[in-house]
Amino acid sequence: MSKILILGGGFGGLYTALRLQELPWENSPPEITLVDKCDRFLFSPLLYELITEEMHSWEIAPYYTELLEDTKINFIQDTVTGINLDRKTVSLESKSVLEYDRLVVALGGTTPEGMVSGAKEYALPFRSLDHAYLLKEKLRQWENSEAQKIRIAIVGGGYSGVELGVKIADKLGDRGKIRIIDRGDKILKKSPDFNRKSAEKALSERQIWLDLETEVTEIKENEISLKYKEVVDIIPVDLVLWTVGTKPVKILDGLSLPQNAQGKLTINSELQVENHPDIFALGDLVDSFDSEGNILESTAQVAFQQSDYCAWNIWASLEDKPLLSFRYQPLGEMLALGVDNATLSGLGVSLDGGLAYLARRFVYLYRLPTPKHQLKVGLNWLMRPIADLLSQ
Ligand SMILES: Cc1cc2nc3c(=O)[nH]c(=O)nc-3n(C[C@H](O)[C@H](O)[C@H](O)COP(=O)(O)OP(=O)(O)OC[C@H]3O[C@@H](n4cnc5c(N)ncnc54)[C@H](O)[C@@H]3O)c2cc1C
Repeated sequence: MSKILILGGGFGGLYTALRLQELPWENSPPEITLVDKCDRFLFSPLLYELITEEMHSWEIAPYYTELLEDTKINFIQDTVTGINLDRKTVSLESKSVLEYDRLVVALGGTTPEGMVSGAKEYALPFRSLDHAYLLKEKLRQWENSEAQKIRIAIVGGGYSGVELGVKIADKLGDRGKIRIIDRGDKILKKSPDFNRKSAEKALSERQIWLDLETEVTEIKENEISLKYKEVVDIIPVDLVLWTVGTKPVKILDGLSLPQNAQGKLTINSELQVENHPDIFALGDLVDSFDSEGNILESTAQVAFQQSDYCAWNIWASLEDKPLLSFRYQPLGEMLALGVDNATLSGLGVSLDGGLAYLARRFVYLYRLPTPKHQLKVGLNWLMRPIADLLSQ
């Protein structure tokens, strides 16, 4: 029986595992093992909804054991510490060693910590469930304090910075004093104009201050130094949130696998690591391209689409069938712009406001892993307004 070992249970790894077991195995089906250091999958595009309590953690971060209970996929909660390419084995923190015939590397990325002095010590990243819990708890404490204003600086005017800023503003209301800092001359520089304009409107309605063409030079406890036109200003803050940058996980550092200048794995169009046809890699830790050779951003949309090809190509490589080249389909982008508001552009449609909010919800519901989990979450969304009405 062939052994398929998948490292990382995010958009790349979990969806590859789920897709693999749906494929028509003519020979004996392989043993599929998924390893993740966490016990829960995280649907990160909905992480902001935890801050505003629009969603529960079980909805956006279901346990792997629940997601996989009706499948034959083995799940191991452990941290990957090394890959032995000659022996075709993977070592885990628990000292276990796992063998593979096909390996999938989908360990994602991390937020770079040392980009500015003090960022590691005093800024909070926003990437994991723990970060969301920590932020929520801090906001709760300030809301229960005597403080008249709660001053929050968000570094980065990309998707995360903007979505986070607007959600926090809606949570804190008049007490929130929020600023978004970005080096560029506009927010959301890679977004369609429609989404950028909707976002600018949402920020201005909530009086979120924009520091553009501004560099963060230092972060200390309760202050942030900002450089604009060569003048440095020191601004008092209660919290700095860091949303800038993604770098591949550290474990790749010691491996002799081909990497680009940013440390991302170099793969061919079939998603195999160059010169290693038995190793497939996808998601945030690879250098991804579309069929015209344009670089693709590190997004869930890319990892999700790659997972389909990755599963198919592993199946094809074990069943002696031809492998497929990855073809990316740009489906557009969606952003949450507060409670009950969003914007989306894609496939010829541009929408904002309440309708976009609903559309975003439904698209993400459809994207959640496993039909069973989708149904559970969908029913909860339907029942919640009724339960709220009854409790009044
Ligand atoms: C707040 C936030 C909002 C986002 N919103 C969007 C959005 O709206 N649209 C969009 O397209 N993209 C969005 N993204 C980006 C998207 O989440 C990533 O591009 C996507 O998750 C990448 O998938 P991946 O499988 O490569 O990595 P991940 O989904 O990060 O999965 C990696 C997995 O590997 C595990 N892991 C890491 N190291 C180890 C180890 N050593 N041992 C064992 N397990 C390990 C992790 O626990 C994790 O489960 C957002 C990201 C964040 C942080």
